[in-house]
This record gives sequence, structure tokens and C-alpha cells, in this order.
Amino acid sequence: MSDIKIERGTVWLVGAGPGDPDLLTRKAEKLIHAASVIFYDALVGKEVLALVPGQTRLVAVGKRSGRHSKDQRSINELLVEAALAGERVVRLKGGDAGIFGRATEEAEALTAHGIQYHICPGITAASAAAASAGVSLTVRGLARKLVFVTAHAQAGEELDLDWNALADPKATLAIYMGKAAAATISGKLIRAGLASDTPVLLIENASLKEERQFSTRLDLLSISARAALGDGPAVMLIGEAVRKPQKSVCTASAYNPHYNIEG
Ligand code: SAH
Repeated sequence: MSDIKIERGTVWLVGAGPGDPDLLTRKAEKLIHAASVIFYDALVGKEVLALVPGQTRLVAVGKRSGRHSKDQRSINELLVEAALAGERVVRLKGGDAGIFGRATEEAEALTAHGIQYHICPGITAASAAAASAGVSLTVRGLARKLVFVTAHAQAGEELDLDWNALADPKATLAIYMGKAAAATISGKLIRAGLASDTPVLLIENASLKEERQFSTRLDLLSISARAALGDGPAVMLIGEAVRKPQKSVCTASAYNPHYNIEG
């Protein structure tokens, strides 16, 4: 097993996965042990944080919408200061560091100060959610495209997405930060031509003990999201790929009803 050292004055942007510490990469775990200071987001799992050695400085810079948190500029400054002070810095982010994680802003701030940074990937929420639900995000011939979308709108602004491009029956949409926009997502996708009975999976707290999953359909998405989801982070997976296998279908090749010649 290779050893990983963090050079003084450098920063690692590390994906901590969806929450379950068993879904942390070995590299991420080594980096957590090699750091002298760790700046972490609200979505980093408690059990992942429990792996941080006692002597390591642990700083919450967590962002959850609607709650008090440090703005991005302050986070950039903290990272820069720590690196310039010669610390071994880990910036721990939920899921994958490069998916809706503001990694570019941080990398730019570091580079502007001549600080070296590296990225360690992590398992993103959509992958963990699909795995928990026992579905694949792509299906040969049926779902050829996987689109990661954030449905987070700027305060007071309408969600600005290319709905016609998203309403592709051969795509799987993995929608992050979409809870508040559930009604808009369902209405706009149906108006852009996606079938109202397109399967939707809602997965909250993927990979954690509190995980909850709900199967619904596009036209019922808003009601289901309101009725079913709580306070936890949730992803929406939309498309034929996430249609749950039927109990009566028992062969692997008949995984999706579209492949079932008799049906
Ligand atoms: N970098 C992260 C995404 C950060 S954006 C990643 O790759 O997963 C935050 C959004 O991610 C949340 O609003 C939610 O949509 C999703 N998310 C993060 N962790 C999740 C989890 N354990 N279960 C379900 N959704 C999650």
C-alpha cells in the first residue's frame, strides 16, 4: 500500500463520498491522516469525520442552503492562509470534489497565490443513490446519456436550464439540489416532451443509516418530493434507466421491461 504525504503549503481538494465511510477512497482516507488541518463541508458524513486524528485541526466551513455558512470567498481565504502558513491542507467535500463542489473557485484562488493543489476524486451522490436503489444510471440502448444537473437557482431567480435538451427520453438525469424546484422540474420537462410516466427515483441521505428511497413518476414528482423528503440532502434520478425491475421479471437480460420480448 503506497504512502501519501502532503507537502507543507499545499492543498488537497478531497471528495469524501456520500457519507458512508466505507465509500471513502483509500487515498482520501490516507490524505485525511496526512493533513495538519481539514476544512470540511456540512455534507461530509459524521463517520468520515470520526476518522480524523485527534491532533488534526478540523474546521467546519459547511454550506447547506438556508443556513448560516461561510461564503465562498472566505473559504478561499482560509485555504490560502493555511497553505501560506505551511500547513498540510485538506479541503474535504461531500461526494466528488469536482461535481457541484466549487473546486474551480478554490483552485483559482490557490493558483493566484502560487499555491499547489491536487484533487482526490470521490463517489458522487448519484452513483451512491443508484447503487443503493439497485439500478444502473445507464442502460445499453435505452439510456445512452447521463446528465448531472444542479437545480439550484440564485436567490429570487428562475431556474435557468435548457429544458428541451434535458427532456431526452434516452438520457438519465441526475438532479442535485433539486428539492425546492421539484414542481418546476416536473412541469418543464413534461412541457418539453418527456413522458409524464417517466420513472423517477428520489433518494435522500444516500449511503447513510437515514437513507430513504422513493419511486415515483415525473408527473407526481412534486407531490412525492413534498410528501416523502425530509431535511436531508436528496438526489433525483429521472429516466427509463431507473425503472425498478419488476418482481415477475427474473432474468438479468429482462432487467428493464423494454428488453422483455414477451412483455
Ligand atoms: N459534490 C457532491 C455534490 C454537492 S452539491 C457530490 O458529488 O455528491 C449538494 C447536493 O448533492 C445535495 O443537495 C444533494 O442533491 C446531493 N447529495 C449530496 N450528498 C447526498 C447524499 N448522501 N444523498 C443524496 N443526495 C446527496
